[in-house]
Amino acid sequence: MKIKNNILETIGNTPMIKLNKIVSGISAQVFAKVEYFNPGNSVKDRMAIKMIEDAETSGKLKPGGTIVEGTSGNTGMGLALGAIVKGYRLICVTTDKQSKEKVDILKAVGAEVIICPTNVEPDDENSYYSTSRRLSSEIENSWYVNQYDNLSNSEAHYLSTGPEIWEQMGGRIDHFVVGVGTGGTISGVGRFLKEKNNKIKIWGIDSFGSIFKKYHETGEFDKNEIYPYLTEGIGEDILPENVDFKTIDHFEKVTDENAAIYARRLAKKEGILAGYSCGAAIAGLHQLKSNFKKNENVVVLLHDSGTRYIGKVYNDEWMKKQGFKLD
Ligand code: PMP
Repeated sequence: MKIKNNILETIGNTPMIKLNKIVSGISAQVFAKVEYFNPGNSVKDRMAIKMIEDAETSGKLKPGGTIVEGTSGNTGMGLALGAIVKGYRLICVTTDKQSKEKVDILKAVGAEVIICPTNVEPDDENSYYSTSRRLSSEIENSWYVNQYDNLSNSEAHYLSTGPEIWEQMGGRIDHFVVGVGTGGTISGVGRFLKEKNNKIKIWGIDSFGSIFKKYHETGEFDKNEIYPYLTEGIGEDILPENVDFKTIDHFEKVTDENAAIYARRLAKKEGILAGYSCGAAIAGLHQLKSNFKKNENVVVLLHDSGTRYIGKVYNDEWMKKQGFKLD
């Protein structure tokens, strides 16, 4: 192995790991693309660096500039690594729903963190969307990343995550299952895989409380679908430009409780201590199992690390407080 010149050079080339026990009852073979092996411990390192580099190329981000982003934490971590190596100031605007670990980690890597209320309309002046926009207009020489509508996000996955999955599977992949937030991961990977083989099915995992599934199935943006939920990183109350609805074959909703239970099972049965939304992806995989045939290969992408949820999903008291089963 060659020496890396800086931490950014360690992004990508994450392992594909066969799941053995957590998938009992599913007749297909299931493989996990485990993205917490990235240096910022999530898949978002890939798109964060791509967004920074594209903004440098287009001149939106200039030397000594300030990066401003609304982020649940993982994108912020990727941006922080980029900011450190490339010499930018970083301000992350996040919500009070995010775990304390994520905020502390961002601060540890030098980001300034501003916390906004979760349960306000996206266009409320205090929402994290509005606050990030306002800061970027107030601060001189700043650039608002906007991971939702910045298409460098899905492009990063089209250029790196998708090709890695295709190569690791030797082209033998029939289904791709992944949580959807900004839509960058599913749209970039999905587009790449469908260009290679348009028979591959792309399954998006959504939360109860999110607009994605209904919008995909009916074309209606139904505000009644929007209500608070606990799973972090997936589901939205807006329609990000990075969600390419045509590439996605189906959205499957998973409850907060099942997401938590499956995250805990994944840690115990496979030794993969992954994040809350990864539990949703595994729970969704089970809900969808009638679609997977024997001899087919399913890839599930696990977005981040469980270390960010030690005070939540991996804490028995927290589980009991939510009224969730411990198993
Ligand atoms: N899970 C977690 C923990 C995340 O941080 C994100 C990013 N919002 C997602 C899933 C969804 O990924 P994407 O934004 O690429 O759709």
